[in-house]
Amino acid sequence: MPDQLINQIAAGEVVERPASVVKELLENSLDAGASRIDIDIEQGGIKSIRIRDNGSGIHKDDLALALSRHATSKIRSLDDLEQVCSLGFRGEALPSVASVSRMTLTSKQQDADGWQVQGDLPGELKPAAHVNGTTVEVRDLFFNVPARRKFMKAEKTEFTHLEEVVNRIALSRFDVDIQLSHNGKVVRNLRAARSEAENARRIATVCGETFVEQSRHIHFDADGLSLRGWIALPVFSRASTDMQYFFVNGRMVRDKVVAHALRQAYQDVLYHGRHPAFVLYLQIDPALVDVNAHPAKQEVRFRESRQVHDFIYRTIHQALADVRPGESQPAAGGQETYPFSAQNKPPDAGFISAENRYVPQTISRQNAMSFQVAEQMMAYASLAATVQDMEPPLSAADHPDQNLHPLGYAIAQLHGVFILAQNAIGLVMVDMHAAHERITYERLKQAMAAGALAAQPLLVPLHIAVSEREAQLAETHQALFTELGMELNRTGPTTLGIRQIPVLLARGNAEILVRDVLSDLASHGSSDRIRQALNDVLSTMACHGSVRANRQLTLPEMNALLRDMERTERSGQCNHGRPTWVQFSMNEIDSWFMRGR
Ligand code: ADP
Ligand code: MG
Repeated sequence: MPDQLINQIAAGEVVERPASVVKELLENSLDAGASRIDIDIEQGGIKSIRIRDNGSGIHKDDLALALSRHATSKIRSLDDLEQVCSLGFRGEALPSVASVSRMTLTSKQQDADGWQVQGDLPGELKPAAHVNGTTVEVRDLFFNVPARRKFMKAEKTEFTHLEEVVNRIALSRFDVDIQLSHNGKVVRNLRAARSEAENARRIATVCGETFVEQSRHIHFDADGLSLRGWIALPVFSRASTDMQYFFVNGRMVRDKVVAHALRQAYQDVLYHGRHPAFVLYLQIDPALVDVNAHPAKQEVRFRESRQVHDFIYRTIHQALADVRPGESQPAAGGQETYPFSAQNKPPDAGFISAENRYVPQTISRQNAMSFQVAEQMMAYASLAATVQDMEPPLSAADHPDQNLHPLGYAIAQLHGVFILAQNAIGLVMVDMHAAHERITYERLKQAMAAGALAAQPLLVPLHIAVSEREAQLAETHQALFTELGMELNRTGPTTLGIRQIPVLLARGNAEILVRDVLSDLASHGSSDRIRQALNDVLSTMACHGSVRANRQLTLPEMNALLRDMERTERSGQCNHGRPTWVQFSMNEIDSWFMRGR
């Protein structure tokens, strides 16, 4: 095959659309140590893409080489590949792009002259005026590949994809100035960020102000792994997974293990069908991660995927558990914010009338469920008794110091739905049912963890046929099943027997659950399904066992609820991901009355 054809075939994997060209070129600029990158786009990148950087430049003798296949200055041996710290390493991008476009490469190294080479005439070098650094110009992408050309979308769509690539690069390197222009107009000017406030500004440019206001900064190191970044509070959830940025050693990746760990960490606090938002950075020994899993380098393989999964899950799960009243930690901007201060209250919180406020279940569905729930309630008596024991006595707090209690003191109940309380900042409104529901739920979970989980032996053991690998997995992970009240044995090379299940799951389909767990174990090395199924039941019970609207509470009862909220993990939102309380500051209340201070 002629070289040109080989490159075009490789281009099929690396160069999908203008955005993928931009990704490869930006990665090259970063690898070259650039601190400033200018991106000029015409017609969504279909007409031209020009990227100029102030990096190290390319030596005259290497210019033509850079356009030849598998010429990379970044690795020399397999050992290097195992330790790769640069974004590129395959030596494929420039020749691939050059084979499907009209490319010009101009570069100048410090104390040398500038030179230029044309993609279709790699041998012919021309002197060219250029400041230190490199400019790559890519015109008429796919002009010689009609099949690909047809698949390009409208200018606007291609530009949107391209902008997303710039976003990712911008979030991967806060220390680099990046300017993006489209058809001669500057559309994004990102200045290098050097302080917390500037970090916040860069994140706001990419993810929006609201994300910054409603996120927590986290940083956790353990066992040679480090995870830092920003996670959105559960009230800032998304309809899709569009705001999920995860970087491994500075490289943005989409990874199944990571995605699963994060989904699981948010599971208990997000409304069904909603997705979390985050910008997270994982640092890991490069030898423990294989970045050469795909030509586009967006997938990785972790050597110890189970360890990485658990580390991410535990870190995020704990960070979310700490979201409760009184917990205050600098948000991205570096200033103290309460989870739902008046300035950043979630769109559906604040003044919500009793009619259209969120009610977890409609009446009809509630009736339909009541038999099942009643039955579970009975099976559950022992657990419930344990919870009763844990309930603190309802009594007014002994020393009314507003600074001691972040949620302050109850002053009234509004329409039987909200508790109004006064704290040092101003007015607190609490959704009584939502708050109580979360508290009950967390207690039920604690009781379950304390071993109060009742198990029910099956009269006739349930046998299920599985593959040999699944049978092995079940055997290896037997403790996982036992811990959650399920007794499962391997009864043959390809059969499992279930002898006992948790009472709470008596009405579910144990076989499907076990199969799903095995499939999780096969693909992620861990599974949280049984616990999740149990939590779902607990959550329903908590909902039904919690104070209903229109129940009059006394002030001591209301105060007891406020104190419970302060003590309870995840009490900033109910089991459905809705906020449980909103803070209004005196300043904001003054402003309602146009009252200056
Ligand atoms: P890779 O990045 O995998 O090494 P590429 O085809 O993307 O392969 O680039 C080939 C080589 O050209 C790189 O290894 C690097 O030496 C050089 N190069 C490409 N772009 C730049 C740039 N902007 N600045 C300096 N050198 C560059
Ligand atoms: Mg490269």
